[in-house]
Amino acid sequence: MKIIRSIPEIKKELGRHRKRGRSVGLVPTMGYLHEGHLSLIRKARQDNDVVVVSIFVNPTQFGPNEDYREYPRDLRRDARLCKKAGADYIFYPAAKSMYPKGHSTFVCVEGLTKNLCGRFRPGHFRGVTTVVTKLFNIVSPDAAYFGQKDAQQSVVIKRMAEDLDMGIRIEVLPTVREKDGLAMSSRNSYLSSDGRKRAATIYRSLQLARDLIKLNDKDAPGIVREMRKMLVPVATKIDYVSIVDPLTLKDVRTITGEVLVAVAVWMGETRLIDNILTRY
Ligand code: AMP
Repeated sequence: MKIIRSIPEIKKELGRHRKRGRSVGLVPTMGYLHEGHLSLIRKARQDNDVVVVSIFVNPTQFGPNEDYREYPRDLRRDARLCKKAGADYIFYPAAKSMYPKGHSTFVCVEGLTKNLCGRFRPGHFRGVTTVVTKLFNIVSPDAAYFGQKDAQQSVVIKRMAEDLDMGIRIEVLPTVREKDGLAMSSRNSYLSSDGRKRAATIYRSLQLARDLIKLNDKDAPGIVREMRKMLVPVATKIDYVSIVDPLTLKDVRTITGEVLVAVAVWMGETRLIDNILTRY
C-alpha cells in the first residue's frame, strides 16, 4: 500500500492502472478510521481491482465555529487499518494543494441541501460536494463508497453524480453501530464517559420511531414528539428530529411508504447525527 500526497502523482499512478483496464474504487474519508469506514473499504476491495482511500479533513465543509482544528487525526493508525482492510493507496493531500491560493470554484446541489443538516450547517454541503467533485476528478473512480450514516450526504452526492453526468457508480452501505446501537463516528472520541452513555438514546429514539411506524402510526409529527420526549433529558441540545421522504428529503406529515427518520443532537460539545430508513 502506498501513501500519496501529490495530486499529479496519484493521477499518474492511477492512469497506469486504468490503461491496463483495471477498475478503481474510491472511499472518501476524513480519517480517524473506525469499523464504519472499514466496511466501505472492504466492499470497495470486493468490487474493484484497485482501491483508493482518501483521507482529507476538508476545511471547506466546516463552519467558522466548528471543529476543523480539533478534528481527530492519526495517519499512522489509519494506514495500518487501511492496509489490513485491503486498500492499495491512501491519497492524503495537503489542504493547500486541494485549495491553492485563488481557488474560487464550488459545486452546489440545490433543494436537497435545504433541510436537515443543511439548516444548521450553512455551507457544509457546498464544501462536501466541492471536495467530492475534486476527488472524483483526481481519482476518476468507477465506483465510490459512502455510508448511510450520513444519509443526506449520500442523497446529495448521488444527485450530483447524476446531474453532472459523472459516470461514477455511487454505493451506499449500511451504518455500522457499537453494541449499544450508537452509530460509529470519529467524533464519538470527543464524548465524555457520561456523554457516551447518554448517546445510546439516539438509536433508541430511532427504534421507537420504527416500532410506532410498524404499529401503523402514520402521524409523523406525533412520532417526532415521542422521540423528542426521549431525547430531551439526555441531549444538551436538539438540532432536529425529522421524518422525511428518503428521495426529496422533504418533511413528511402522513407516513404512507418509506421514510428516513433522522436526528441531529448535541451531547455536550459534540454534535452527533444518526438515521434509519423504515417503511409503513
Ligand atoms: P467521514 O470520515 O466521517 O467523513 O466518513 C467517511 C465515510 O464513511 C462517509 O461516507 C460516511 O458516511 C461513512 N461512515 C461514517 N461513519 C459510518 C458508520 N458508522 N457506518 C457506515 N459508514 C460510515
